[in-house]
Amino acid sequence: MKIRIFKEEHSFAASHFLIEMGKCERLHGHNYTVTVEIGGSLNSNGVIVDFNEINPVIKNICDSLDHKTIIAEKEKRQKLTFDGAEIEILFKNKRFVFPKEDCVLLPIESTTVERLSSYICGILEKKLGATHQNIEWLEVGVREGAAQMAITHLSSTGND
Ligand SMILES: [Zn+2]
Repeated sequence: MKIRIFKEEHSFAASHFLIEMGKCERLHGHNYTVTVEIGGSLNSNGVIVDFNEINPVIKNICDSLDHKTIIAEKEKRQKLTFDGAEIEILFKNKRFVFPKEDCVLLPIESTTVERLSSYICGILEKKLGATHQNIEWLEVGVREGAAQMAITHLSSTGND
């Protein structure tokens, strides 16, 4: 059994750049959509997980990224410098300076949809894995634009 969550409000608009990825190296943005599937057995209430419990978690993640510039903290090809209220990013012959409050720094190597889905899946696993023994796996899809999506599938380590 699985549940699938694809709410319109589970979306965010954000800017990013991808180093050594052609035109994507320029600062640009997407409208991202997050879909979640959760597989497992039914609990005593007859649900895998209460939609009212999981939906705010997904919404909070989306809100934390919405209208931000997403920066990959672990991107080794860039030099990140924090100067007061600003973040400076240097790579190749480029220099970006952003207001710190307009950015979100994620512990990922690059801001591809693959890594964004993996990041979000990790958060959901942390939130749900320990307390929901009936959950067997999680899947998080992050879509950019109309027809491109990456999906992370994570088997729950809390179960056998
Ligand atoms: Zn992009």
